[in-house]
Amino acid sequence: MKDYYAILGVSREATQEEIKRAYRRLALQYHPDRNPGDKEAEERFKEINEAYAVLSDPERRAQYDRGLLGSPPFHAEDLFDLFAQVFGFQSERAVPRGEDLEVQVEVELLDLLHGKEAEVDYARLVPCEACGGQGGRRVACPTCGGRGVAESYRQGLFGAFVSRSACPHCKGQGRLLAEACAACGGRGRVVRQEQVRVRIPPGMDERHLLRVPGYGNLGLGGPGDLYVRLRVRPHPHLEREGADLVYRLRIGLAQAALGARVQVPGLEGPVSLDLPPGTGHGEVFELPGGGLPQPGGRGALRVVVELAVPKRLSQRARELLRAYAEEVGEEVAPEGFWEKLKGFFRK
Ligand SMILES: [Zn+2]
Ligand SMILES: [Zn+2]
Repeated sequence: MKDYYAILGVSREATQEEIKRAYRRLALQYHPDRNPGDKEAEERFKEINEAYAVLSDPERRAQYDRGLLGSPPFHAEDLFDLFAQVFGFQSERAVPRGEDLEVQVEVELLDLLHGKEAEVDYARLVPCEACGGQGGRRVACPTCGGRGVAESYRQGLFGAFVSRSACPHCKGQGRLLAEACAACGGRGRVVRQEQVRVRIPPGMDERHLLRVPGYGNLGLGGPGDLYVRLRVRPHPHLEREGADLVYRLRIGLAQAALGARVQVPGLEGPVSLDLPPGTGHGEVFELPGGGLPQPGGRGALRVVVELAVPKRLSQRARELLRAYAEEVGEEVAPEGFWEKLKGFFRK
């Protein structure tokens, strides 16, 4: 017979609580999901479950201690049932912490320069004072006698064993609501309007959430957290790319060819920028420090040049462009060509 005490690493005098603690620790450590493909871990996992199945049952443990237990209590597939039951109960019976909540805070792009204090109004669930969060008067579940556990005998390869699952009547809680609290309708919690001041840090990334610990829903096991999602209202001129800001600057043909001094709407006001002669479409000018704060400084203001080609030209502008084309030897459509062609397509 295997030494089940040694397998769980407990003394022969270990209490049920000590045995359970040892089992939980070892079962998690050697669970096959955590050790994929590891045959040794799988064997250990089976042994640990076998040991726990025997030692957690006082009757079977007594038989084992006296050397009277004839065969292992069950076969391999049942091991996972046992694991699920032990861990399943724990989470169902544990007093739950309140849920996390999420709220959205809207700011202007300029607010991200220095950060911003924002008042957040939101609603959260708090335990009902009238019933102390219990939802009303509770009585022991008659189905399971208040233990929260349903037991049935199952036939395994090596004989019958007890299968334990959460009591379906009380869902493992052990107690049932006999009379619902009038204040909360039996839910145990009520909605309360709250207000909290949060500090939006400079340059905060919209993809991140700001965590405000303890401001989520309140449960009997403590509060959840509040998460603040940031929304930056669209800016009329600037787009954000991380810590950088992007401005799309439209320039004319002559500006592109001859260069120009232009005004760019920066985050804190107009910034002047000198475009050299021969500036092309898609060229990017970077103004360092014109972006949003980030660790170690500020991002850049990136000016992306877009060449605006005129759709309509005056007679004189056309003549000048024709003269220009002739000067540089560019072949262009003859006067009136496109007008005729348009007429052709319209027919
Ligand atoms: Zn029950
Ligand atoms: Zn109540």
